Amino acid sequence: MQWTDVLATRSTRMKASEIRELLKLLDQPDIISFAGGIPDPALFPADAFAAAFATAMSGSTAATALQYSVSEGYRPLRDWIAGCMADLGIPCDAENILITSGSQQGLDYLGKLMISPGDTVMVTWPTYLGALGAFNAYEPRYVRLDPMANTSPEAVKAEAAAAGSTVKFAYLTADFSNPTGETIPVAARHALLDQAEALGIAIVEDAAYQSLRFDGTPVPPILALEIERTGSIEAARTIYCGSFSKTLAPGLRVGWICAAKEVISRLVLLKQAADLHSSTLSQIATEIVAREMFDDHVAKLKATYSGRRDRMLAALEREMPAGVRWTRPEGGMFIWLTLPEGMDGADLLAKSLASERVAFVPGGAFHADGSNRNTLRLSYSCASDAQIDEGIARLGRLLRR
Ligand code: PMP
Repeated sequence: MQWTDVLATRSTRMKASEIRELLKLLDQPDIISFAGGIPDPALFPADAFAAAFATAMSGSTAATALQYSVSEGYRPLRDWIAGCMADLGIPCDAENILITSGSQQGLDYLGKLMISPGDTVMVTWPTYLGALGAFNAYEPRYVRLDPMANTSPEAVKAEAAAAGSTVKFAYLTADFSNPTGETIPVAARHALLDQAEALGIAIVEDAAYQSLRFDGTPVPPILALEIERTGSIEAARTIYCGSFSKTLAPGLRVGWICAAKEVISRLVLLKQAADLHSSTLSQIATEIVAREMFDDHVAKLKATYSGRRDRMLAALEREMPAGVRWTRPEGGMFIWLTLPEGMDGADLLAKSLASERVAFVPGGAFHADGSNRNTLRLSYSCASDAQIDEGIARLGRLLRR
């Protein structure tokens, strides 16, 4: 059987990333890894979930938990999320919320909803690798979104038109981005809204790390700023993707999309066709744990992660040679390093694994065009103080060599 003869064109764009293949080798105990952008499992509220799953499976709730359910998601959880959105300056109700199997599924659905082959999607350079993976299946082309530059909408439109393409949406992680850890300031969020309005496109605001602000001044979500302008979420072009993966646990696979009802009702049809609904058992347990302890638990996470961020920033200050620059995130899990021009993050990873046994993710992979290879992402979320001190010292030594 020649499988390549029967594959859809989109399949040819779905490739295993070379980085993922490399990172598979990391399970060895002597490696200090700053590679995985994952929560520290020691911080999972496992006891609370054990109790919540027991409750979900008891009495009449068991039938709800185990039966087919509506595509929109478990109503009490959607109500709880709508309350959180209101606290963020996004007044809405459960009808504005669709529960997804992680925010990753939300990105896939949004690609499916808006991208026809050849359409243009604006993404930051760098951007979340998983978003490129999700959108790639729908065969878009990408152009660079730079919320900090005053790019003229006419220029963006003209560039797309010259390629016979239509611009559909801008995607970004506005808070503590994966991979840079940076946050888009409020003025740039307004400029992005202006640009999207001039282009007539949607904005996809990926808020995966939004709850994990350690310090600094909170910046309102782009959707909240837009609702200040429009007066209602129903007139908003911004689609907000949330997730419990970084705050409670990624294994639950519970995320959500918050948007105008017109968008949600179209997404509900997509979800019906794709997987009917996300796990009701997971949603019920998530609602119980979130209602009982969300704020207290997130406060605990922030205390731990901010300590690790401080430790890593101090180690970088001590160990990095001149010419290396890095971001100073106010939350989230990542620090982004820029090496001197001409250096290559992927080469450095190979050398680092061979001689220093320190892992990180080379930055080229996060760019839709593979550029800026002299960058890398460090995650502090799962590292101990001793691993941070030792790992960054080894990396500094390698860079000096
Ligand atoms: N968006 C960003 C920016 C992420 O970093 C991640 C996970 N690494 C996701 C979305 C997907 O998360 P999940 O599907 O677990 O909600």
